Amino acid sequence: MKIIADSGRCIGAGMCVLALGEVFDQSEEDGTVVLLDPDPPASMAGAVRRAVQLCPSGALSLAEGDRADGESDT
Ligand code: SF4
Repeated sequence: MKIIADSGRCIGAGMCVLALGEVFDQSEEDGTVVLLDPDPPASMAGAVRRAVQLCPSGALSLAEGDRADGESDT
């Protein structure tokens, strides 16, 4: 699982940081998202998904990486 962060869409709400501070941080300059760990271990997948869903601006997305079967995400 890889996390993709679009800092152009990020509004600096910080929800991701509150949800999972081990993986997400915010830039000191403009408050936009900084990925501390763009490729977190599978054991963190649930927490990562929750953090991505919490983002109010849709700046975060996931690339599951090792799947080539085009599984749709709901
Ligand atoms: S939750 Fe979304 S908008 Fe807020 S800091 Fe994280 S990426 Fe940016």
